[in-house]
Amino acid sequence: MKDKRRKIRWFQKIYAILFGYFWLPCPICGKYFGGHEWQDNNYTALQISQYEGNAVCINCTEKAIKRNKLKDTNGKKGGFIK
Ligand SMILES: [Zn+2]
Repeated sequence: MKDKRRKIRWFQKIYAILFGYFWLPCPICGKYFGGHEWQDNNYTALQISQYEGNAVCINCTEKAIKRNKLKDTNGKKGGFIK
C-alpha cells in the first residue's frame, strides 16, 4: 500500500513540474504536494504573518483553519509560525 501511494506521489510531482505548478512541503505535516492539488474547494493557507501564508495540503486544511483562528500570546488573531 505504501509503495502504491509513493508511486502516485511521484506522478503528482512530475505533473506539477511539467505543468508549472509548485511542488512544496506542507508546513503542517511536511508531505510534498502540488499546486494542481490546491483547488477551489480545498485551498487553505496557514498564516505565517499578518499578510503572508503558506499553502497547506488537502489533509491539513482543517488544522490550518483552526490554527488561523487561534490567538497568539499578544492576542492577535492567527496561528503564525514563529
Ligand atoms: Zn499537510
